[in-house]
Amino acid sequence: MKITFATGNAHKLQEINEISAGTNVEFVLPPEGFDPVEDGQTFEENSLIKAREAARLSGMISLADDSGLCVDALNGAPGIHSARYAETAQARIDKLLLELEGKDNRRAKFVCAMTLVDAEGKVLFQTRGECHGEIAREQSGANGFGYDPVFLVEGNGSVATNQEVINLTKVGAGGKKTMAEMSEDEKNEISHRGRALREVLEFLTK
Ligand code: IMP
Repeated sequence: MKITFATGNAHKLQEINEISAGTNVEFVLPPEGFDPVEDGQTFEENSLIKAREAARLSGMISLADDSGLCVDALNGAPGIHSARYAETAQARIDKLLLELEGKDNRRAKFVCAMTLVDAEGKVLFQTRGECHGEIAREQSGANGFGYDPVFLVEGNGSVATNQEVINLTKVGAGGKKTMAEMSEDEKNEISHRGRALREVLEFLTK
C-alpha cells in the first residue's frame, strides 16, 4: 500500500522506508508544491496540518510527522521551534550548548508526533514517540542530522524510572553514545520517530 509521507526531506523519507521495510507499506513524497504553514501550537497539531496538506495535494492516504527537541532546563524549548532555533544546524547546536552552559540539569527528550489521515483529511490514527536522554557538554559523531551530535541517549531511550536516572547520573556520560555516533539501525531502534512509526505500521497492518 502506497502512502504519501508529508515531507520535502528525502532523507527523512528514506529513514522511514527503512523502518517500514518488510511490511507492505511504502511511503512516497507528496507532489510538488507541498509547503504547509506549520502554525500549530503542538507537535500533534502541526503533524495534522502537514498530513492534511499532503492528502489534499496527493489525493491519497497521508502520514505526517512533526518532531523536535525539548530541554527540561529551557522549559521545553526549542520544542516545536527546533528547526528554526537558529539559522544553520551547527548554529542551533552552538546556541543550545551556550544556553546550557554551567547547567547541571541537562535532561532532554526528542518528541515525534505522527498523524495518519485518509484522502479527505479525516484522522485515522495519531500517536507520539519519545526518546529520552540528555544534552552532552560537547558534540560528537557525524551520523544523523539536526541535534544528534549533542543528544546522549539514556538507556534505550524509553522513559527511565527515578532509580534508573540516579544510576545513570552516577555512571555519568561515560559509555553513552550520542545519536550521531549510532548507526542508522541503532538510531531507528530507539528513536522517537522509530517508536511512533512502528505504532503507525501496527495500526496499518493489523
Ligand atoms: P520537523 O519535524 O521536520 O519539523 O523537524 C524538526 C526539527 O527537530 C529538525 O529540523 C531537527 O532540528 C530536530 N529533530 C527532529 N528529529 C530529530 C532527530 O532525530 N535528530 C536530530 N534532530 C531532530
